[in-house]
Amino acid sequence: MKRILLEVFLVAALIGAGVFGFMNQKQAASSKAKITELTAAVEVAEKSAKEKEESLKAAEEEMQALQEEMAPLEEKTNQLEAVKAALASGSTLSDLEGAYKKEKTLSAERQAGLGALRMLTKGAEDPGALEAFRKALQLSELGDRKNTICAAQLGLVAAGEKIKVMSDCLPKSEKAGHGDKEEKDSKDDGHAKKDDGHGKKEDGKGKKDDGHGDKKDEKHAAPHWGYEGEMGPEKWGKEFPTCSAGKSQSPLDIKGPFVKSRVVVSADYKEGPLKMLNNGHTIQVVVTPGSKLRIDGIAHELLQFHFHRPSEEKIDGKPMAMVVHFVHKNAEGKLAVLGVLLKEGNENPGIKTLWANLPKEENVEYAPDGVNFNPGNLLPREFDFYSYEGSLTTPPCTEGVRFFILKTTVNIAKEQVQAFPFKMNARPVQALNGREILSN
Ligand SMILES: [Zn+2]
Repeated sequence: MKRILLEVFLVAALIGAGVFGFMNQKQAASSKAKITELTAAVEVAEKSAKEKEESLKAAEEEMQALQEEMAPLEEKTNQLEAVKAALASGSTLSDLEGAYKKEKTLSAERQAGLGALRMLTKGAEDPGALEAFRKALQLSELGDRKNTICAAQLGLVAAGEKIKVMSDCLPKSEKAGHGDKEEKDSKDDGHAKKDDGHGKKEDGKGKKDDGHGDKKDEKHAAPHWGYEGEMGPEKWGKEFPTCSAGKSQSPLDIKGPFVKSRVVVSADYKEGPLKMLNNGHTIQVVVTPGSKLRIDGIAHELLQFHFHRPSEEKIDGKPMAMVVHFVHKNAEGKLAVLGVLLKEGNENPGIKTLWANLPKEENVEYAPDGVNFNPGNLLPREFDFYSYEGSLTTPPCTEGVRFFILKTTVNIAKEQVQAFPFKMNARPVQALNGREILSN
């Protein structure tokens, strides 16, 4: 029984997140009304399933009929398979939320699914749905899971958020074609442009999405990337143009002559509950708000930190065993990365804690019970640095990222380097292209 109800929820969630937000088709609108009614019916039925087996059966039959009616619409929302996958375990919203609370580990897919289901059951205004979609987008930021990004973006749009949606997220019939579909196309374009303008004006919401901007702009069908062969750094530019065409890319081989820097940088990192993520490209620690990097007094919030093996940056042509990248964003959305080079030597107690809590599953945030961590444990005492303007070192290679690479290295034991789950996840050094490297 639950399985069938679930199927209906899935279709409804797909439609809810993917279609309603976009198309003002009568078909969709009438379906939406039906779904709303039926959802209510199912909720009532579900609560007292035993007593009301008959009404439940009726609702089920009705929903099956609705499902058939929706089949053509579902085709247009194939890109939201992630939602389907997210809900594959099957339950009503409260069951789902309860189960997720217990797990403490919500993947981007599950967040997107939760958002869709919340929106369906509680309406487009539901703040929890918005939060879930935002979280899904945030979690999929550095990954390559287009489906999840699409589900989150479409969900946010359906909820009335002014964000730009990656073109690949639009149903196929919406992207290309002629005749009556062209009208829709141009309408969507206008919509997107309008949103763009709004996004820049908006304060809180706009900024959060800025980090994803380039990813959405780039038209890539299957944004897969890695560090070797056909998916290696030399090929990133095919799907992420900035990676090959950009003129201020990271990482760099850091060598003189240097320009004197008078910028003052200090870190004010706070302890918080440990949350880790293996996003398939690195181990990332998701930081709770409150840790800051101050650059000439301007606060940059620490979002996450992650590792590369060997270090991406070279000093005079030589890489270190590893590097930690602390990723920050200021109130204007400008990114700043603090790099701490890890040199083979004594055991690192901070790394010991982190490696003891490595996520077992990819793309699922892991929050071990009762483990706190202070990112400051990974910093050296000395804060002398090299600095330059660069980019994200992973696709989409977005530029405008300010780098500070500390001159003082921090120890890591050989065994700890070997225990890092990625053997090689460093992008090669990029051309300087006339940029200055500063040194304080
Ligand atoms: Zn990095």
